[in-house]
Amino acid sequence: MRAKKATGKVWILGAGPGDPELLTIKAVRVLEAADLILFDHLVSAEIRALFPAAIPAFYVGKKKGQHSITQKELNGLMIRKAREGKTICRVKGGDPYVFGRGGEEALELVQAGIEVEVVPGITSAAGCAAYAGIPLTHRGISQGCTFVTAHGETEADLNWAALAQMRHTLVFYMGLSKAAWIQQSLLENGMSRRTPIAFIENGCRENQRLITGCLFELADLVERWQIESPALILVGDVVDLAAQLNPEKNNPEKRNLEFYSEFNERRLTA
Ligand code: SAH
Repeated sequence: MRAKKATGKVWILGAGPGDPELLTIKAVRVLEAADLILFDHLVSAEIRALFPAAIPAFYVGKKKGQHSITQKELNGLMIRKAREGKTICRVKGGDPYVFGRGGEEALELVQAGIEVEVVPGITSAAGCAAYAGIPLTHRGISQGCTFVTAHGETEADLNWAALAQMRHTLVFYMGLSKAAWIQQSLLENGMSRRTPIAFIENGCRENQRLITGCLFELADLVERWQIESPALILVGDVVDLAAQLNPEKNNPEKRNLEFYSEFNERRLTA
């Protein structure tokens, strides 16, 4: 029999955007083998329901303005528990290495001599776009896709001229409170005011909402539809494909149907 390792390990695990069926097989296996689970606020209730009941699981989320524990305390906790020989599963929404501070946590752990392994997850841009019926790239429409956080270290971190002129699909994470700034910056840098945009709120969850429109009304739509976090902002011509590919399109019970025809008419006259 192999001796139990003196030091444990931290798995940094991506849980995807919300639908528990989007967890990888590896993620489920790793969760079941953990001694301790530490999860973020973006990890949906349906996914939390899959945590084995016998394994202690703690919320260590950092919802905007409501930090349950500081990053320093969290890193300290993971290092301490790993040194006790525990296997820790650090669960994050989406993919840990896309705007999730997964890289920062991994660096701290590695520098403390702790073994770290990352389980990739479906990032919200990929999951939400698929569930909304918006291909992120499409031959003849968009040859690329750029993921952007509207919350960098400084506002100057973004090259708006490049973003506006690349003719790629843009996906803004954490962009809701910065909608006016995104709209203004793209318009100032030459993007057409009629460029299609979409908000995907609570993507890949029961209450997913897709709201579409044009760049010139981006900030207005947040107010009009009372869009709430978590939400992504998509910018680019691929958004128009949702009119054909959105699975809710043919379902009259769904709330966005009326809006589609409204926005399509408005776009023609904008
Ligand atoms: N690591 C995560 C992103 C963390 S940043 C990932 O790969 O998806 C948090 C931002 O992700 C939110 O502000 C929101 O813009 C986006 N987001 C995460 N889950 C989402 C969901 N289910 N629906 C819409 N946006 C989501």
